[in-house]
Amino acid sequence: MYNDKESQKIVDIIQNYARKHSLFILAYGTGCGAIEIPPTMTSRYDAERFGIRGSATPRQADVLLITGYLATKSLKRVIKVYEQMQDPKYVIGFGSCTINGGMYWDSYNTINVLDKYLPVDVYINGCMPRPEAVIAGFVKLQKLIQQGKADGWDIYKKNIDEYKANQKKIITNWVMPDFNF
Ligand code: SF4
Repeated sequence: MYNDKESQKIVDIIQNYARKHSLFILAYGTGCGAIEIPPTMTSRYDAERFGIRGSATPRQADVLLITGYLATKSLKRVIKVYEQMQDPKYVIGFGSCTINGGMYWDSYNTINVLDKYLPVDVYINGCMPRPEAVIAGFVKLQKLIQQGKADGWDIYKKNIDEYKANQKKIITNWVMPDFNF
């Protein structure tokens, strides 16, 4: 017979197994990297065989895919989208621009470290990453989910003050209510 702790562990393993094979993505096509999404999702690379498929709305999505540079104007919309998604949720930073700004590192109107504003679970490097790299990034995310280590959504809640302070440094006309957990 299992005690409560052992039973919970078994439930977590089963839940994580199901989650990692059912990743509905919301692709926010912020930058040029978005052009690699159609070949990744269609018959040539067929991401659906990994359980990865598109979602029409944030509320049904598990993964927010930020595909490249993010303009300061878009940041507000991306935050709004992320906060509408249900837990557990994951963020993938796609392309060098999300890691360090890439070729726009000193641009006045793009952010250059996505992780300061949203919790990124996996980065896919490259400019632009090919579909093979995109799929490798998703496989990495699946491994983290199975291990219970894809916990950016929880980190966001725990460090909400820090994230909000960073967001408000960029979004000067902040008219949204702060996210209320
Ligand atoms: S990493 Fe390269 S391909 Fe991706 S958005 Fe930046 S400049 Fe474009």
